[in-house]
Amino acid sequence: MSRWASERSWSLLGICHTHGEGIPAKLSPQDRAHLVRAPGILAVVIGSGGRETNPQQWGWYEFTSGAYHTIGPGERLRRLRLTSDAQAEVWMADRHGCRPMADP
Ligand SMILES: [Zn+2]
Repeated sequence: MSRWASERSWSLLGICHTHGEGIPAKLSPQDRAHLVRAPGILAVVIGSGGRETNPQQWGWYEFTSGAYHTIGPGERLRRLRLTSDAQAEVWMADRHGCRPMADP
């Protein structure tokens, strides 16, 4: 994914993925080994297949010093601001490539 973005001169500020029902919204060992590893990148994990709407229940991480570190609730509130008016493009990536996220 990072190569794909680099080829387009895009900078990934953060990545987000979902975990299914009953799977904690936390980075798994496999996530930690295979997600984008770039200093300062934000990684967010949303539970319940993406249906969990409470950001306090999501997993928040930053890649620093060679590993992903949890961003606790206080730090998240201090450093990140969630808004509903932000304009962003949502893309998805899988083994087939990267593409804009289709509307549900
Ligand atoms: Zn995961």
